[in-house]
Amino acid sequence: MNGALTTLDRRDTDRVRTPLSEVQAQFDRAAQRLGLDSGTRQLLRSPLREHRVAVPVRMDDGSTTVFNGIRVQHNDARGPFKGGMRFHPSADADDVRALAMLMTWKCAVVDLPLGGAKGAIVCDPRSLSVAEQERLCRGWVRQMAQNLGPAIDVPAPDVMTSAQHMLWMLDEFETIFRAKAPAFITGKPVGLGGSPGRSEATGYGVVAVLLEALTRLGLEPKGATASIQGFGNVAQHAATRFVRSRGTLIAVSSWDAGDRQAYTFRKASGVDPGDLSQLTDRFGTINRLEAAARGYEVLPGSAWLEQEVDVLVPAALENQITAANAPRIHGRVRVIAEAANKPTTSDASLLLEERGVVVIPDIVANAGGVTCSYFEQVQGQSNYYWTREDVLRKIDSRMTSAFAAVHERAEREQVSLRDGAYLIAVERVAHACRERGWV
Ligand code: GLU
Repeated sequence: MNGALTTLDRRDTDRVRTPLSEVQAQFDRAAQRLGLDSGTRQLLRSPLREHRVAVPVRMDDGSTTVFNGIRVQHNDARGPFKGGMRFHPSADADDVRALAMLMTWKCAVVDLPLGGAKGAIVCDPRSLSVAEQERLCRGWVRQMAQNLGPAIDVPAPDVMTSAQHMLWMLDEFETIFRAKAPAFITGKPVGLGGSPGRSEATGYGVVAVLLEALTRLGLEPKGATASIQGFGNVAQHAATRFVRSRGTLIAVSSWDAGDRQAYTFRKASGVDPGDLSQLTDRFGTINRLEAAARGYEVLPGSAWLEQEVDVLVPAALENQITAANAPRIHGRVRVIAEAANKPTTSDASLLLEERGVVVIPDIVANAGGVTCSYFEQVQGQSNYYWTREDVLRKIDSRMTSAFAAVHERAEREQVSLRDGAYLIAVERVAHACRERGWV
């Protein structure tokens, strides 16, 4: 059976502008403003390395399925490559390249001593048994082990991968090298090398910078309203902290567990994230029949974007806010916090900028996850674990100071927050490449 050999290479004709070309265009703007020489530009526009693997997996029925995977290592001038591994049925090589590049800038903007990478395996874990998922994780590590490691490239969870997947990957790696290596991978379960606070870190960090942005706009978090796209790990924790900060969550959009279509679940009086998460599985899919029975209005998937709220939080996948749907965003929206990676296309960003909407760019907004991953490595390497409060406090302080620096740079240079963030990040990475004598 070869059903999983699908979309890693999308043809050019599929899309006029790929996420990679968009991220490159964003980089080019920063490079131009920073006056980078052409060698540095060439180096940073593309990944340093890419690894393609085919992973044969024995299925529960005795057949074999071959899963395609890719790991893109964009840049390691500031430290080992770092970035998540996603499982997704329509994972695409160009998207992974774009996401790897984003990781380089993300680590740099929060000043972590790490580079950028990203990987994907074309699969739908929702259709695999637990044992098949374990064999897939172990098979991937067997193919990739020589190119991974605490001082080489450190994977982490991403879309549809969990702490359990990370632990199987770690166990395979340690078996191959016959030594414990907790810093090989991050996002492990707490108690088995994971950092306290890792599962909430990304969502928690999103709200840390969102609160900063609201304050700077003169808006009180208390009484601010929000609509969120997605209800996976990042969205659930962002929702929880937003509501704890006395904001009101009006709508959440996610997949239905039955027909796997997207729906928006709305409660004008305020969604209780704890209540909704009881109807949600570990991939973030929500049971819409139960949600309706509990008093949620069930609307089309795209309705999350049209809500009359102060804040939108896209926390699902790439390219969700586009030039085509941006005009449907309500005039009340003041801030968009990009909890997902690359949820807004560059055309949509321009439209939103013209409307005066503040977009907190992904590389700042969702950097809480990789910041916690870095703390997890530090704790793992010293074999001494901090408290959850310590970890979250350190994340808060990194995130708010990174946001302040980005805000200051954007004001000073009269550019958007995204451009401000890129200027800081690209400058740091280019400096590291130069100092190492690469360019
Ligand atoms: N997948 C997350 C991200 O995109 C976390 C990466 C990591 O911790 O290495 O930022």
